Amino acid sequence: MKYKKYIAIVMATVSLTLLNVVSPVAVAHASAAQTKAEEALKDNTEEVQQEEKTEQKEEEKEQNKDQQATQEDQQESQQDQQEEKEQAKDQQTTQEDQQATQQDQVQEEQAQAEEEPVLTEEELAAKEKEEARKALQNDPNHVHNYKWIAKMNASEVAEGTMNYMCEECGKIWFFSPASPYVCFEGDTAHRIATAAEGERINVKTSHFINFDKQVMKALADRPDVSLYVSFLDGEYKGNRVSFVIPAGEDTMALLDENGYCGFKFLGGKYGLTLEQAAEVAEPAEGEQAAEAAEKTENAEESVSRTEEVGTQSE
Ligand SMILES: [Zn+2]
Repeated sequence: MKYKKYIAIVMATVSLTLLNVVSPVAVAHASAAQTKAEEALKDNTEEVQQEEKTEQKEEEKEQNKDQQATQEDQQESQQDQQEEKEQAKDQQTTQEDQQATQQDQVQEEQAQAEEEPVLTEEELAAKEKEEARKALQNDPNHVHNYKWIAKMNASEVAEGTMNYMCEECGKIWFFSPASPYVCFEGDTAHRIATAAEGERINVKTSHFINFDKQVMKALADRPDVSLYVSFLDGEYKGNRVSFVIPAGEDTMALLDENGYCGFKFLGGKYGLTLEQAAEVAEPAEGEQAAEAAEKTENAEESVSRTEEVGTQSE
C-alpha cells in the first residue's frame, strides 16, 4: 500500500514535470493531481505515524515483557546462586565433618600404636622378613627354590609339618606331618640358618632337653649367630633355667657319640641362669623339719609346741 502511494506521488511529479514541458494547460491538472497526491501522502504519513506509534507501543510492551523476563531470569539466577552457596556451605560442613572424622581416626590409630607393645628386635626382624616374603610372592620374575623345611606346631607337644617349600617367598609345594621333636630341631636349625647377621636366636621350650646334630651344624655354619635357650631343668617340669651358646663356638665338638647335645651339659659348659623357680617347691625332709622349727621359734608364746617339735625331732 505504501509503495503504491509513493509511486502515485512520483508518477504525479513526473507527469507534472512532463506536462510543464509539454502543455501549460495540463499543468493545472497536474498540480491538482500533485496536491491530491500530497494530501494523500499526508494522510498516508499520518496513518504511517499512527501505525508506527502502535508499533512502538507494541515494541515497548514487548520490551517491557523482555525486561520482566530478564528480571525473572535474574531472580532465578540469584536463587540458583543462593542455592549454590547453600550447597557449598553444606559441602564445607561435610568436608569439615570428614576432616574431624579423619583426625579422630588418626588419634585412635596413634592411641592404638601407643597401646601396642614394643616389638623386640627379633619380632621386628620377623615382621620385615614377612613383608619381604609377601613382596616376593607378587614378583613375576621370582623363581621358586624348594627345600625341606620343618615347621613347629604352635603347641610344642603337637605334630608339626615338614614343608617342601620355597624359603624365599614361603610357597609350599607339599608337606607331611612330622613328630614334635623332629620339628623342634628342624625349626631351630632353620632359624639359625636364616638369622640376620650377628643375631641371637631365642629358643624357649618346656618339653625338649637336647639338640641334635642339625642344630649344632647350623651354628657351626653361622659363626656370627648366638643361641639362647630357656628350658625346664626337671624334664617337662622344674625351674626355668637358661644358657647362651656364644657365636663362633666349635659346636660340632659338643655332640656326644650318638649325635646329641643335652641342655644340662650345655648349661654346665656355658653357665646356667635361673630364670624362674618352680612354682610348687618340694623341699626335702630335713628342710621341712628346719622350716617347722623356725616357725615354732618365731611363735615364742607357745612353748609347749616347741617342746613337741623338740620331742618329734629327737
Ligand atoms: Zn618362591
